[in-house]
Formats: sequence, structure tokens, C-alpha cells
Amino acid sequence: MVLDAFSVRVALGVVTVTLLVLFCISFHRTRSPYAGWWSVALLEFMVGNAAFLLNGTAHQQWANPVGNVLVVAGAFSVWAGALTLRDMKAAPWQLAVAPVVTAVASVLESPGTNVWSGGFVYLAMMTVGIALAAKDLWFIKAAHSQVHKALSVAAGLLAAYYLARWLVYALEGPTSDTFRTYFGPGPSGLISMVLLVTVSFSMTALTSDQLIKGLKERATRDHLTGLLNRGAFLDLAATELNRLHATDSGAAVVLADLDHFKAVNDEHGHGAGDAALKAFAEACTASVRSTDLIGRYGGEEFILFLPGATQERAESIAVEISRRMASTTGPEGVTFPTVSYGLTSSIPAAADLTFLIEVADAALYSAKAQGRNRIVGADRLQAATIADEARS
Ligand code: GH3
Ligand code: MG
Ligand code: MG
Repeated sequence: MVLDAFSVRVALGVVTVTLLVLFCISFHRTRSPYAGWWSVALLEFMVGNAAFLLNGTAHQQWANPVGNVLVVAGAFSVWAGALTLRDMKAAPWQLAVAPVVTAVASVLESPGTNVWSGGFVYLAMMTVGIALAAKDLWFIKAAHSQVHKALSVAAGLLAAYYLARWLVYALEGPTSDTFRTYFGPGPSGLISMVLLVTVSFSMTALTSDQLIKGLKERATRDHLTGLLNRGAFLDLAATELNRLHATDSGAAVVLADLDHFKAVNDEHGHGAGDAALKAFAEACTASVRSTDLIGRYGGEEFILFLPGATQERAESIAVEISRRMASTTGPEGVTFPTVSYGLTSSIPAAADLTFLIEVADAALYSAKAQGRNRIVGADRLQAATIADEARS
């Protein structure tokens, strides 16, 4: 017995439309890129399958190739969605190649009379698109859920099914009994239906993972510079310092403040001030190691936490940051401000973070008092004197 392709396609269409409506609502609410790509994929599957319904009519000539192209584009949209969960992006050409190749193949084998025109390429491209999605779903770094692994397995099985379709198509042709019974539009439509529902259902979990990640990012990062915000910096640095002390190691703390920054705002506008802040953040990021922490402490004040760094090492990093900042060209007519630094290190003695910041702050105050554009370091012994001087 062979499943009736037309009925299965109508049912598949109804299921796809229902899912599409539900997902558009979800995307509208969450703006999760994954939900967005999945909606695009559903739309492509839906219109593609609707085009296949015109097989056997006078429209088959154009509808059948259009159906092939859209369904292949849908498979690659699923892949694009999977990539967003890995914080990656598919280049437009990567998404366009398979549909274009499918289009060419589909118009070459008399699509007006042959419903399997371009079938060889269509099945091959479907296998590739779904297999890519399976691969990238597998490699998602998931903090909480493992849903993506289940989805990856489902996509992997579907890719294997399409590979089998492709092989049987190549070896025995689309009119053979084996192909029509197991791999024709009827059975494959039924399988697609089950998978569309399963995937859509599991997606809720993945979409919320993506949302939680975004919210967390927003709660810990400074919007303008992308550096850690004050709260997140202090939490991370305190934890790290405790860990370092437990291993008899220490860290350096650097406070940096842009000189006469208010003048940049006053003379060139807030936009120029923002550009200076971003340039400084970039200079910091480029000068430290990946294990160092950089935070925006306040308006134009920044803070660095350098695990294992001595005062000398911290000083050389400050020199490097200022060198980079000075070599950055600002917007037309704007000279970026110089920077004053106050720094200290808990090496060799141990001290808590609040104390280190207090000492660095006093040193910074001293750098400003001495005429700005300089680095003042204070060790534990100098700290008290510097703090006193700063207050007097
Ligand atoms: P000093 O050398 O003593 O540090 O002088 P200063 O002008 O740098 O310091 P002051 O504290 O007088 O001015 C800091 C200015 O930074 C005032 C505030 O409007 C500005 N500011 C704070 N946050 C931002 C921001 O996000 N963007 C811009 N453009 N300006 C900011
Ligand atoms: Mg300043
Ligand atoms: Mg300041």
C-alpha cells in the first residue's frame, strides 16, 4: 500500500500553518533569533508544500521547482537557526547556494511533465542542510537544558532518512516500489509532520535558554563599552581574589580615569565623549590577557583586575593602554583625552578587594593631583600615607 501523497501534503500544510502562527506569536514576544529562523523555515516549508499541491496541473511547470527550492531553503533556515544558538551566523551565500543549485537542477529535467525534476539534487541538498543543522545543534554549549542533544539526534535521523531517499532514488529511481513505499512524498510527509511538531515543542526550551542568556549578558555588561558593569566586576573580582589567596597568589588592581573628560563632552558633544569611552575600553581589552577582568567603574572611570600581576606588571599594562589610546584617532577634530592611573598589587601580601580598590583610588587621586596623564603605584606600606595625603 502506498500513502496518498496529496492527502498527506494537505495535512502537512495544515500542521505547518498552525505551527507558523504559534511561532510568529512567540517570536513577536521573545525576539529570540532561533524562534525567528524557525518561523522563516516553517513559512518556506508551508509555501513549498503548497506549491507541490499544484503537481498534475498546468502550473506544475513552475510550481514544482519553486516547491523544491523553498523546501531546501527551509532546511538551511533550520541550520541558520541552530547556528544562532552557538552565537554564530551563517553568511548569506551559505544559505543561498543550495536553493540556487536546486533551482537550476529543477528546471533542467522538464518540470512540466516530470514531478521528480531535479530530484537527485533536491534530495542531496536536503540531506546536507538537515545534517548541518544536526551537527550545530549537537555542539551548542547548553548551561541548563540538554534539549538540543535530543533535537540534534532527531535531525540526524531525518538526515539519515534523506540520505537513504537519495540513495534509493539514485539506484532504483523514483518509480521503483521501494522508493514509493518508503521514501515517496507520502511517507516522507508523514515523517516531516511528526518532526515539525516535536521540534516546535522542544523549541520553547531552547528559546528561553537564549532569552536567559541575553538577559544575563545585559545584567552584567555595560551597554556602551561592552565591559563588565560595576556590580558584575566586583562579584567576579572578589571571587577570583579569594581563589588566588587560597593558592598563595595575589592580584593587581588598576583604576583609570580619563583626564578632563568633561571638556571633550563640552567641546565636541556627548557623541565624541562616548567614542572616547569606547576607544579606551578597546585599548584596555587589547592590552590585557583573557583571564584579566575589565569593568566600567563609573562614568569615565575604569577598573582592571589582573590575577597574578605584580605592581610592575600592572604599570606596564597601564603604559600599554595609554599608548594604544594615544594612537587611536578620534572623530574629526577630536583628540582623545590622556589617562591617569592609580594601581596597587596584593603581591606579596594578601589584602581584600575593598582595601585594594581604596589604595588604588588614593593613588589615582595622587596622580590627578600631580598633574594627570601619569601612573601612580602604591604598595601596602605606602597605602596609608597616600590615602592620608589624598584626604588632606
Ligand atoms: P578629571 O581630569 O579630574 O577626571 O576631570 P573630568 O572632566 O574627567 O571629570 P569630571 O568628573 O568633572 O567629569 C566627568 C564627566 O563624564 C561628567 C559626565 O557628564 C561625563 N560622563 C559620564 N558618563 C558618561 C557617558 O556615558 N558618556 C559621556 N559622553 N559622558 C559621560
Ligand atoms: Mg576624569
Ligand atoms: Mg572621574
